[in-house]
Amino acid sequence: MSLNLYDTMARAKRPFVPADPKRVTMYVCGPTVYNYAHIGNARPVVVFDVLFRLLRHAYGDEAVLYAANVTDVDDKINAKAQAEGVAIDVITERYIEIYNRDMATLGALRPTFQPRATQTMDAIQAMIATLVQKGGAYAAEGHVLFDTQAYPDYGKLSGRSLEDLIAGARVDVAPYKRHPADFVLWKPSKPGEPVWESPWGPGRPGWHIECSAMIEQALGLPIDIHGGGNDLIFPHHENELAQGVCAAHGCEGGHTGDYARYWLHNGFLNFGSEKMSKSLGNVVLVHDLVKQAPGEAVRWALLVGHYRAPLEWSGELIEQARKSLDRLYGALRRAADVTPSTDAPAPKFLAALEDDLNTAQAMAELFALASALETGSPEEKARAKGELLASGRLMGFLQSDPEAWFQGGADEDLKTRVEALIAARIEARSAKDWPRADAIRDELNALNVEVMDSATGATWRLKEPS
Ligand code: AMP
Ligand code: ZN
Repeated sequence: MSLNLYDTMARAKRPFVPADPKRVTMYVCGPTVYNYAHIGNARPVVVFDVLFRLLRHAYGDEAVLYAANVTDVDDKINAKAQAEGVAIDVITERYIEIYNRDMATLGALRPTFQPRATQTMDAIQAMIATLVQKGGAYAAEGHVLFDTQAYPDYGKLSGRSLEDLIAGARVDVAPYKRHPADFVLWKPSKPGEPVWESPWGPGRPGWHIECSAMIEQALGLPIDIHGGGNDLIFPHHENELAQGVCAAHGCEGGHTGDYARYWLHNGFLNFGSEKMSKSLGNVVLVHDLVKQAPGEAVRWALLVGHYRAPLEWSGELIEQARKSLDRLYGALRRAADVTPSTDAPAPKFLAALEDDLNTAQAMAELFALASALETGSPEEKARAKGELLASGRLMGFLQSDPEAWFQGGADEDLKTRVEALIAARIEARSAKDWPRADAIRDELNALNVEVMDSATGATWRLKEPS
């Protein structure tokens, strides 16, 4: 395996070498669970799912440990619980379950661990105590803050200096901060918010420390890969790194590579020329989208561009995705009687993914395999079918029965109508009402449905678009 990944810290593509090939670790920052996930939130999930699958292929399923957290302590969760008059965990349980189901519809494997801040509170407090003890944090007015001036490597990941951060700071910096860039590790809870006892007074953790503690508890340092959207580079990942390194190695500096060995960040998904975000209100929810289009087509649409580039979301993108999958499933359907002669992915396909997850090139290789499956010699067809199925599987595609794919293209209304028409046609035929049977066949044709009669009854499928 010669995997190269673009590392945000190195600002370059680097050969991927895990600390221990028998225990490869990856952590990706997940959503705050107070609402349905939008398709932008699904982009890191699907991108890092491809990487998870690729790592499993290279190192073995059991050797890869993938933790993707959910943030279940947050102001927005509290607000939602208050608005509905229910306990906070009613909200978080509900949206974690919906989130997991929606992401499964997009073909994302369940991560090995799904840690939650509320279940990591002891580790969070222990890490804060260590930071205070090592001189990397200070308590002030019921808060504990990270002392950015005590850590010389602060800013290395995002390429910022403490001077830049003073210039960029708003005037209303809290009076208890020694430096405007100092950030909260612990803070008092507001009335009605969840609260935990602590040595620094009752309160709740800051967002960044939650991830550092979950990483240490679920995986241990250093992890091989840390991922998330590129909005998280600063301040979230910069702060995670600072805390994690100070707590584990002291604050002297020189340990930036000992927290995460590779930092990967996906580009943003934009909608209507702005980034898709709940606060802007321009969201398309995964939950709604998968009712209108197969999850596999949505997954395809999320992977057509390179993960680091911005992705412009549109209905057209899903239509194109559906057509691409029609093409591949069509080739598999026509080759139903070809027996695959391999179950390994195609070398060129693998090489594309190993080049910093070049999914667009990997998809081009899938089309090349589909062509070989249609036009090759019998040996080539047998190899192409095996490679197409195995490559598709590695990327999370092409695992449905081709017939089911084409029927899945029909929505529920269409399915009901088709079934009713087929029943009426059988009736017309048994009554020898040929003109009526023909009229029904024409109607089915107009719906793009092909009926296959057999001794045991009629089956149907959608025709491929020409
Ligand atoms: P959030 O719930 O906003 O904290 O986001 C959860 C994950 O989704 C993080 O990794 C974000 O970086 C990522 N994310 C949020 N919005 C988008 C977007 N429009 N495009 C790509 N990634 C996003
Ligand atoms: Zn995080």
